[in-house]
Amino acid sequence: MKEKATLASLSPYVPGRPIADVQKEFKLDKVVKLASNENPFGFSQRVQEALAQSLTGLEYYPDGGAKALKKAIANVNQVSEERILVGAGLDDVIQIISRSLLSPGDEIIVADPTFSQYELHAVIEGAKVVKVPVKQSSGEMDLEAMLEAITAKTKIIWLCNPNNPTGTYLPQSLIRAFIEKVPTDVLVISDEAYQEYVTDEAISTSLPLLETLSNIIVMRTFSKAYGLAGLRIGYAIIPTTVSRAFDIVRPPFNTSTIAQKAAIVALEDQAFIEHSVAVNQEELAKWETFLEAKQLPYYHSQANFIFFDVKQDSKALAHQLMQRGFIVRAGLRPEWLRITIGHAADNQAIRTILEELL
Ligand SMILES: *Cc1c(COP(=O)(O)O)cnc(C)c1O
Repeated sequence: MKEKATLASLSPYVPGRPIADVQKEFKLDKVVKLASNENPFGFSQRVQEALAQSLTGLEYYPDGGAKALKKAIANVNQVSEERILVGAGLDDVIQIISRSLLSPGDEIIVADPTFSQYELHAVIEGAKVVKVPVKQSSGEMDLEAMLEAITAKTKIIWLCNPNNPTGTYLPQSLIRAFIEKVPTDVLVISDEAYQEYVTDEAISTSLPLLETLSNIIVMRTFSKAYGLAGLRIGYAIIPTTVSRAFDIVRPPFNTSTIAQKAAIVALEDQAFIEHSVAVNQEELAKWETFLEAKQLPYYHSQANFIFFDVKQDSKALAHQLMQRGFIVRAGLRPEWLRITIGHAADNQAIRTILEELL
C-alpha cells in the first residue's frame, strides 16, 4: 500500500513523555511534567463533582451539534451560537479548518517558531507553508513581514497569540491594524490557546474584531488554563460563510458527551481560572528574575510557559533534567528550552538544578 504523497516529508508528532514512563526508567519517586503546558492546579473542583454525577447516558451518541455547550460559549463570549465550531481540542479544529479550506498549491503563512499543527495539516492537504521568522530580539511575530509574505495564493494566516513556544503576546491594536491590511479573501486565524494567561492588557482577545471584520477566526481551548487536556475539547468562533464547509468535514460526533458537559461547568468557574492565572503571573516573574541574574536571553511570556536560551544543546540538557525528575520541552530551537510554569516549589526546584547545570 502506498501512502498519500504529501506525507513523505512529515513525521508523527512526538509528545512529551508520560510521567510513569520516566519514573520507571530513571527509578524516580517523583517526576514533574513541565513539557506540555498543562495547568498544575488541575481543573475546577466543580467539574470534578459534575463529572462524578454525569456518568449516565453514555450508550447514546453525544449531541453532535454540542448545543448546550455552544449556548454556554455564546453566553460567555457574547457571540451567536451559529458562529461556534466545537472540536476535540484545537488539534481537531485545526484539522477541520485545513481540510475544508486548503487545496494543493494554496499557501498558508505562519510564524517561525510557532505551534506545529498549522504546518502539518497544510502539508497534508498539499498546501505550501510560508514561514516568517519571529523577531529575534523580542520573539514577537513579525506582522509587517507576514503582510509582505501574502501572495495571490495565500489562503490562511495563522497567528498564535500568545505564541507557542515564544510565549510572546501582541496587543489587540496591532492585530486589528494588521487584519485591516490583509485582503478580505485571506483568512486570519488567531489561536488564543493561552489567552486566559495574558495579564499585560485588559482586552487580550481578538474576539471584538469579529464584529467588523469577516475574515477572522478566533480559537480557544479547554486544555490549558481550564486544565482539561485529557478530555479533548476546544472551539473556534468562525464566520458563518465557512460553517457549511466545516460541518461537512467535521466528524459528526467529534466531541464526547463527558467533554461537552465538563466544558460547560468549567466555564462557570471563573474563580478557578483567576487563581491559576494569578499564580502563573507570580511564578513567571520569578523565572524572569532568575534568567536576568543568569544573563540568559528569554522572551517575555504572557502564557504558562517560558522559552529561554540555555547556550548549550537543549536536548542534552533536557535529558539531564529528566534524569533529575523534570520533563521539559527541547528541540524547538537548538539551544532553547520551553518550560511550563508549574507549582512554586517545583519551579524553584528546577531552577536550583539549572543553577547547577548551567
Ligand atoms: C496546546 C495548544 C493547542 C492544542 O490544544 P488542544 O485544544 O489540546 O488540541 C493549540 N494551539 C496552541 C498554540 C497550543 O499550544
